[in-house]
Amino acid sequence: MQNLYSIRMRAARGGAHEDGGRHISGAERIVPKDKIPAVLQQLYSRAEKHQLGRPDFINITVESLSGREVNRVTSLPVYTLGCRDYPEGRRLAVKVLELKGIPPRVIEKGFSCLLGDSPSGTGENMRGAILLDINTGRRLEADPGRGVRASRMDYHPDVTPDLSEQLDEFGLNNDHVREALCLATKVANLPGIVAELCWSDDPGYTAGYVAAADTGYIRFPHLKARGNRRGGRIFFVDPGRAKPKDIIGKLEQKIYIITALGPVHGEITLEELKRSIRLNEIHQRRTVLS
Ligand code: AMP
Repeated sequence: MQNLYSIRMRAARGGAHEDGGRHISGAERIVPKDKIPAVLQQLYSRAEKHQLGRPDFINITVESLSGREVNRVTSLPVYTLGCRDYPEGRRLAVKVLELKGIPPRVIEKGFSCLLGDSPSGTGENMRGAILLDINTGRRLEADPGRGVRASRMDYHPDVTPDLSEQLDEFGLNNDHVREALCLATKVANLPGIVAELCWSDDPGYTAGYVAAADTGYIRFPHLKARGNRRGGRIFFVDPGRAKPKDIIGKLEQKIYIITALGPVHGEITLEELKRSIRLNEIHQRRTVLS
């Protein structure tokens, strides 16, 4: 693979993030050198035209990844669990998190962090994710206003046309799903991560997901009410499997490129999802034994 560059954009209003500005948007790509000018333009336009408002601070960083290890992975399989409204979506999301063995009180703590007055303690959305210990229910981020940002992941350009085609079939070919699937695939592949829960800050986008390595990327069309500007992310972690410091280091620094695609499925029920997880477990046990 030719030399790659990580390009990261973050935009805020009311000054830079570090000076208390309100986070508006963030996005990132990993590309070869000849694509840098076009991607700079795309990320700049993206920052300028966000639903949450016009930023007065935009930071775009270009960093060479020369000499760094690149991990190649397959994207998580995508499923949709149908729900009529966000209370039903949240009930289903709780059930999927329970399937991952996360204690109900920790799941409840996670939801109350995202739904409380402000997970960041500043009245604003966080820029990153909450890191929640599944054993104690304690938050593990050093800076609760910022949270922990997963970074340095992208699709290989060879797989993006196929991905768009597969997602198109189910009306899911949009920036939200493509970027969240990429992030969730990296996060789920890291040791110590048990599951992720997310819904967007975008007031016009009500869907959210739970993702984990052996369950896949499970979408819920409604996890919040339309018009609501509050979004957030939780990485549920087990410090018994990896030290939080190492998990954070890998979330921020380890480079992941998606070079193959998992399947994109249509709408399924919770029972069908459970059956599919059981089949995956049997398949994995057979693979380990053989
Ligand atoms: P979004 O899906 O981009 O609207 O983001 C929803 C929430 O996820 C944001 O409010 C942040 O708290 C969090 N978030 C966004 N990007 C990242 C990231 N790269 N790593 C960790 N958390 C993120």
